[in-house]
Amino acid sequence: MAMTLLRILAAAFITILMLGSPASAQPARDLFGEMHQPAAGPEMVIGSYAKGCIGGAVQLPTDGPGWQAMRLSRDRRWGSAELVQYIESLAQAVGQDGLPGILVGDMGQARGGPMASGHASHQIGLDVDIWLQPMPNQTIPASERESLSAISVLKAGTREVDPALFGEAQRLLIYRAAQLPGVARVFVAPGIKRSLCAINWRDRSFLGKLRPWYGHDDHFHVRLACPATSQSCIDQSPVPAGDGCGADLDYWFTDAPYQPSTSPPSPPLTLADLPNACTAVLRAN
Ligand SMILES: [Zn+2]
Repeated sequence: MAMTLLRILAAAFITILMLGSPASAQPARDLFGEMHQPAAGPEMVIGSYAKGCIGGAVQLPTDGPGWQAMRLSRDRRWGSAELVQYIESLAQAVGQDGLPGILVGDMGQARGGPMASGHASHQIGLDVDIWLQPMPNQTIPASERESLSAISVLKAGTREVDPALFGEAQRLLIYRAAQLPGVARVFVAPGIKRSLCAINWRDRSFLGKLRPWYGHDDHFHVRLACPATSQSCIDQSPVPAGDGCGADLDYWFTDAPYQPSTSPPSPPLTLADLPNACTAVLRAN
């Protein structure tokens, strides 16, 4: 009896908490996930890659010369004008290499911010995922853009690339992606970086931008630097000097990075965790 009463009291208390919770305490991913139109006005890139938002975002068309966007239902084809321009330039560069084009994965939401699934970053319109498999020559129907899978380029059960899946087309694609102006980092699976490090490039400077990271074996992730015009955008520290092909990369082939985490998962970001200007972006017309 006492237990039942306690439970009822507890449930009532939780209900009051939920009803009384201001928007600033709600998970920001719910608030930003509901936004399907950009905040009007000039572009404003606010905060940092994993804690921020964007006003005045623009949408990448579903198709263009040398690209097709995937997973259209997610409505994550939004970003800064610089990011859209970057994707167009990459598609063009890849075309000049004789490749049909690129499959574009997630960019960001209409007003940026945290997402309900998939990414900690991609919040300020400067991140994009590009699939590693070649774009087919024909237009992919929208339904297949939902169901087609990105294909891992690793040999099954290893951390090394499969040469049948990671060849000249993929090497050129990543080279072009890292070389274009404005790129701060390109996240790739350690095996991808290792195979690119093994090549005798005339100019190795792009290799430093390739950052080994978890996953990223069926796509790579391009992160642009803050646009010069965005005063409220917070850059990451620049990548260390050098090609990053030595001890830093070797670490990823030890067991150390793959130990289960001992720290509890952090709670979802709330509006209060984001820069104040993101509240204005969320409420803007
Ligand atoms: Zn990504």
